[in-house]
Amino acid sequence: MTDHNRVGTTVLGYPRIGPDRELKKAVERYWAGRIDEAELNEVARGLRVDTWRRLAGAGLNSVPSNTFSFYDQVLDASVLFGALPSRFTGLGLSPVDTYFAAARGVQEAPALEMTKWFDTNYHYLVPELGPDTAFTLAGSKPLDEFREARAAGVVTRPVLVGPVTYLLLAKAASGAPEDFRPLDLLESLLGAYTELLAQLHAEGVPWVQLDEPAFAADRTQDELDALATAYRVLGGLTDRPRLLVAGYFGALGDGLGVLARSPIDALAVDLVTDPAAVRAVAAEGALRDKEVVAGVVDGRNIWRVDVDAALAKAATLLGTAGSVSVSTSCSLLHVPYTVDVETGIDPRVRGWLAFAEQKVDEVVLLGAALAEGTEAVADRLAAARAATADRAGAADLRDDRVRARLDSLRPEHSVRGDYARRAQAQRQTLGLPPLPTTTIGSFPQTAEVRKARAAFRAGTIDGDTYQTAMRAEIEKVIRLQEELGLDVLVHGEPERNDMVQYFAEQLNGFAATEHGWVQSYGSRCVRPPILYGDVSRPEPMTVRWASYAQSLTSKPVKGMLTAPVTILAWSFVRDDQPLGDTARQVALAIRDEVHDLESAGIRIIQVDEPALRELLPLRAAEHAAYFDWAVASFRLATSGIADSTQIHTHMCYSEFGDILPAIDAIDADVTSIEAARSRMEVLEDLAAGGFGRGVGPGVYDIHSPRVPDTDEVSALLRKALDAVPADRLWVNPDCGLKTRGYAEVEPSLSNLVTATGQVRAEL
Ligand code: GLN
Ligand code: ZN
Repeated sequence: MTDHNRVGTTVLGYPRIGPDRELKKAVERYWAGRIDEAELNEVARGLRVDTWRRLAGAGLNSVPSNTFSFYDQVLDASVLFGALPSRFTGLGLSPVDTYFAAARGVQEAPALEMTKWFDTNYHYLVPELGPDTAFTLAGSKPLDEFREARAAGVVTRPVLVGPVTYLLLAKAASGAPEDFRPLDLLESLLGAYTELLAQLHAEGVPWVQLDEPAFAADRTQDELDALATAYRVLGGLTDRPRLLVAGYFGALGDGLGVLARSPIDALAVDLVTDPAAVRAVAAEGALRDKEVVAGVVDGRNIWRVDVDAALAKAATLLGTAGSVSVSTSCSLLHVPYTVDVETGIDPRVRGWLAFAEQKVDEVVLLGAALAEGTEAVADRLAAARAATADRAGAADLRDDRVRARLDSLRPEHSVRGDYARRAQAQRQTLGLPPLPTTTIGSFPQTAEVRKARAAFRAGTIDGDTYQTAMRAEIEKVIRLQEELGLDVLVHGEPERNDMVQYFAEQLNGFAATEHGWVQSYGSRCVRPPILYGDVSRPEPMTVRWASYAQSLTSKPVKGMLTAPVTILAWSFVRDDQPLGDTARQVALAIRDEVHDLESAGIRIIQVDEPALRELLPLRAAEHAAYFDWAVASFRLATSGIADSTQIHTHMCYSEFGDILPAIDAIDADVTSIEAARSRMEVLEDLAAGGFGRGVGPGVYDIHSPRVPDTDEVSALLRKALDAVPADRLWVNPDCGLKTRGYAEVEPSLSNLVTATGQVRAEL
């Protein structure tokens, strides 16, 4: 992307939701029929043009385009290459409505499946491919955006999901033959990419970026061969722009050599997750003729770059690659727009942060330092050094009491008594019927609940008024559960906006942003807290709500907490110590809460760990080390209590395969898991692995507004009983109910209770 002997600067992608979530708001207004397509496009165009101008204005010498999306970049690729399933294309809708139908589903056609983008909290829409899928160039989005940017004065570099990663992220459509693999379609897909590259070349596009992050995970020889084929074919074209292939989220392993030997022009490597790539690149003689795009600025976390470390990496590459560009490690999609608006964060902590805009400036600064020498930018480098040094030396980060407590812990602090004894003690104290019914925690968050929370935050109602409103809601939820006949009740979580933010706001060591939104999927955005220092719990966080709920009923009320890995996964975490150390600190804070709940008479405590799968490293060789600290943190948080206190955990998202051993090892008394959509398959896997504790497979899919009928639930329960004996089976929905309405929740739970009664009678 740069001339030989010069140093280029770029980023691999940029946020698209808008600094004030303009895209989210416009898309949701369009869905609600409040604006038309022309107005929606106008908002989108404005956001794109602002981004290109900002990136060019900041001094990047190569600016990405086609990083905009109305929903998801993988869905964009499916549409571009004519690979949407016919259940959407046959609906007779306009192109944009067909696109949204695939993303969100309509009555006649369930949405494409959504799953996590590698080890991030971004979700993409899974392509559904079959042997009949014939890829064609069916759209012109990359071309249109290139033209639009050029008209706005910026020549850009269109970015696309690479063909091999696209196929590896796809799944076989239902009905495809057993032996069909999406990768079988490579030749057809390369035909469509070829056509696209020719079209872009004819338009004068100088560079195209193809993302192949799938090679940061373990790949088979076949898959590596596919990578070699893809870039031999695309690189070998004569009518094409120059090609940058980007690998990120980890070491490319054997993929690095494959790409180095391919006839591509540039390779982007992630030097944040994989600093050793500097040496790997040097070892690839073939890269001496290519450009290496050095991902030295962390695209996924929010700390200011260590300029000296970054410069050292890039400078080493200068000696071994044909030419070098400075870049972010991955797309900036995963960080918020700008630190400047975060006036609520302690100024000292704010000085340590860099969001997307600041990261662009960091890239430009590093590029200048490399190209012109550090003297030329000495002042800005000194300011950057001062900020990182301030963070490294900050006493606020350290809490010696927390460290001393952790040092004094011994292994026995993280083990509970023998499970059989616990089960016995719990049977006695709890006296539950077989197949106990319960829910996952949250009840529908009504407009009034949200309003009361917002008013309390804004200071327009006082603490007492807020307490009264929340207590009234808790009482309503308890009474409803009693009427429905559920066995283990919850308080409903009305006081929580988010299961991580709620705890982060009450723990020391965390800062909250006001505008730090990041796209999670489609129009859904999250505002991850920033974990910057040692974590501790100044006072109980949930006890008064749980105790109040318990005071209203003689049935057991389940306390509700979030487990350490999930708190880390959904926050921006400090990068100055191993994740496992941070997890132990969070675990200690949760442990204090568990103990306080127990002392307050709460006999069942659920510690949610839905993100256990999300932080699983992409490479199998790193799994064991991850499980070590992840499992240890859960056990530290949930031990040191009476045998009779029952610990539940909850996990969602459908793929459990790799984490089954960890689900066992965390030693929870009861584990509730998503299972309704996969029709209980996970139970067989658990049983096969010898899992012998309580399990609550979800029998009601809360991601859908559908009310399951009694027969449907009882059928699922009978199926579950094939894999789990009745004395260990629990009955519950798939996940929390907070996004649903009472109109669906009441009949659904009523059917769940009735179905359980029927199946109990058959025992
Ligand atoms: N207890 C949480 C709730 O019910 C669990 C949410 C989750 O698993 N994501 O909302
Ligand atoms: Zn869940």
